[in-house]
Amino acid sequence: MKYCSEFNNVLTFFPDKIRSCCVLGNLGPVYYENYNGDIKTFDFEYLKAKKKEIYEQQLNEIFNNLPCENCFYLKDKTDEDRFSPKFSLVYLNSWTQCNCGCFYCDRLKYSKGKITKRKEKSEYYDLLPIIKGLYKHDLLDRENLRVVFHGGDFSVLKEFKPVVKTFLKYGIRKIDFSSNNIIFHPIVKDLLAKKKASLNMSLDCGTRETYKLIKRVDKFNDVIKNLKKYVKASKSDSPEINVKYILLKDVNDNEKEIQSFIQTMKNIGITRVSLHLEHKYANELFENKNKIPIHYKNLINLFFELCKENNFYYDTPDDVMDYIMTNL
Ligand code: SF4
Ligand code: SF4
Repeated sequence: MKYCSEFNNVLTFFPDKIRSCCVLGNLGPVYYENYNGDIKTFDFEYLKAKKKEIYEQQLNEIFNNLPCENCFYLKDKTDEDRFSPKFSLVYLNSWTQCNCGCFYCDRLKYSKGKITKRKEKSEYYDLLPIIKGLYKHDLLDRENLRVVFHGGDFSVLKEFKPVVKTFLKYGIRKIDFSSNNIIFHPIVKDLLAKKKASLNMSLDCGTRETYKLIKRVDKFNDVIKNLKKYVKASKSDSPEINVKYILLKDVNDNEKEIQSFIQTMKNIGITRVSLHLEHKYANELFENKNKIPIHYKNLINLFFELCKENNFYYDTPDDVMDYIMTNL
């Protein structure tokens, strides 16, 4: 008998689908294909029944239409593993608008490169009525619930505040925000101060000029100012704010930029950073089991040396980077 804790816990809202997990490039079982945004047709009892049905299929290893058969997360069931009708991890990923335009962004294919300046509704469907419905039908684990904002940037999502307030009102353990931090949000600051939030961003540079090349807006100074305010609010030597550096060919893949990035982080009190390769390039290396070029090897080593010198917490947070690091 098999069991998958990801399936048991996760609910993910994508633009075109509402589905279970999104791990290691696997996209798990689907609950709603092309949900049309009409909350009157959103059937919470169906969601509950479908979850149970898929759970039974996994348990009995009936994989007809499921993408789970060879998944790393599917394990032999133990006595502690039980079905839960409630979700404890929700990914919000159902809008694609953003107030900057990173040239490597996956969302460009949806947004056609448009930089959104004002708050807008998602182009796909509203989250708020679904979230309220999930609470009403007792489908969220109020004590343990963790919510992750992915999507475009929540700064331009009209529903952002009401969605957060709904989670806070009905019960949540933590919210993980991903943002470019061009806009400062007092609600994020307050939650960081209460240790009920974490913040994740990709800065990818240490200078205003490189920032402009990558993000296509001139907001480096605003981002740094906002990060400083979040750090201050966190009242911690190690704020739960992770700043990523994605190595981008011929743009920021040089020593000077990495040194400026680390120095800037040090100046503003950020102590958690992570290094990534641009994901299309990283997947290419991973899939072909190619060795990483020497130039990148040196930059990766430099990045981690500087982290050690400055007592930063750093990691290589995905399987592709793990592969690359162990094959340096
Ligand atoms: S087995 Fe894999 S694909 Fe299936 S639900 Fe679990 S994590 Fe997702
Ligand atoms: S901040 Fe994120 S969502 Fe916005 S353009 Fe950059 S990668 Fe895309």
